[in-house]
Amino acid sequence: MSGGDTSGGDLHADVVVVGLGAWGASTLWRLAAAGVDVVGVERFTPGHPLGSSHGGSRMFRTACLEHPGLVPLAQRSGELWAELSQVSGRRLVEPTGGLLIGPRDGHVVEGTLAAARRFDLPVELLEAGRVREEYPLHASLPDSHAAVLEKTAALVRPEQTIRAAVEAAVAAGARTLTGTAVEGIELVGDGVVVRTAARNLRAGQVVVTAGPWLSSLVADLPVEAVRMPMTWFAPSGDPAPFALDRFPVFIRELDEGAIWGHGLGADLGPAGEVKLGLEDGGSAFSVVDAAAVDRSVSEADWAVLTRLLPDAVPGLGAAPTRAAVCMITRTPDRQFLLGRPRADPRLVVGGGCSGHGFKHATGVGEALADVVLGREPRIELGFTNPNRFG
Ligand SMILES: Cc1cc2nc3c(=O)[nH]c(=O)nc-3n(C[C@H](O)[C@H](O)[C@H](O)COP(=O)(O)OP(=O)(O)OC[C@H]3O[C@@H](n4cnc5c(N)ncnc54)[C@H](O)[C@@H]3O)c2cc1C
Repeated sequence: MSGGDTSGGDLHADVVVVGLGAWGASTLWRLAAAGVDVVGVERFTPGHPLGSSHGGSRMFRTACLEHPGLVPLAQRSGELWAELSQVSGRRLVEPTGGLLIGPRDGHVVEGTLAAARRFDLPVELLEAGRVREEYPLHASLPDSHAAVLEKTAALVRPEQTIRAAVEAAVAAGARTLTGTAVEGIELVGDGVVVRTAARNLRAGQVVVTAGPWLSSLVADLPVEAVRMPMTWFAPSGDPAPFALDRFPVFIRELDEGAIWGHGLGADLGPAGEVKLGLEDGGSAFSVVDAAAVDRSVSEADWAVLTRLLPDAVPGLGAAPTRAAVCMITRTPDRQFLLGRPRADPRLVVGGGCSGHGFKHATGVGEALADVVLGREPRIELGFTNPNRFG
């Protein structure tokens, strides 16, 4: 089975995974690797540029400032990224090191240090003077700021990893329907019916990993889709300081929010361009209907960023050379939703990535597979319980 399912007739499986983006592709892989009879359904083609998982690169960190409880998930994901790289024979992860920069007592530096302390991670605190000396593109850092250097931070290639996970799942026995939209999910008796235009899929359980489209398939979840542009800039002069080894991946907290980015590296997006964007929070990202998101880009999408850049990251052109629209799925507390809504034994959701979920995709896939299989979770993820909001 593969693209544009038109054959009709009910299809039976133990489990259906709806949405083969970052989290769904990994879930499909981990379920198939566990010997489960599983079908994955994807509206587009795995690795497409219309959801949350495109643009050539995603930052991988283990000292997760978003929640210390994410550290074990990132560590496990790192192991599984290595396994997927090996299985696929592709270079999915690019080691770069990373800098988490901001006020010494601010959210980025303190959050990273808290996560590192709790799990005894080997990070290094660099005072402002040392940052300015060793990373000249961050020369504007004031004395009251600092950076945490995480040497094991890296970049992951999103499109390639999704394709690799789907291929690994198929090699392990999974079936896939791509170019096939799920139109509805019904919980019936002790199973589920997953409806597509061509046919019904009948299974004991469904895992819904539909990213920004999640709320269109599962009602009453506290998620909203948010439109988030990505931008690439060309150096205005010498490109050498922007090489990945001199300008590693970073998040920098500023008065007006935070910016993230990374330098020039082969195969990480358009050649010769530096990728930069704004973190969620404090800036003008809009809540959208994922099915009707405006994919056109305009100056309004990078106005805040370009105002901050001359000081924050000097040496770049005044406007991006390229921009693209991406989306995240946000929850009220900015943590994931992983598990069974209303404790229903037929339904599992994996969503609410809140803009920091790619690095964890393989660990999330394994955790969701554990939920499906009723296994004791390897990692304590109680803070991602989808029922925590009451
Ligand atoms: C600009 C930007 C930068 C980011 N940077 C980072 C970073 O550096 N590090 C990090 O860890 N995270 C980062 N993130 C977050 C990360 O990319 C997301 O957390 C992750 O991609 C979420 O994956 P997902 O599987 O939830 O969604 P998606 O990958 O969008 O997958 C959902 C899939 O479901 C499919 N689908 C939806 N509805 C249906 C349907 N009805 N029928 C069939 N299929 C359906 C979609 O087509 C899609 O393929 C960033 C996000 C953005 C937008």
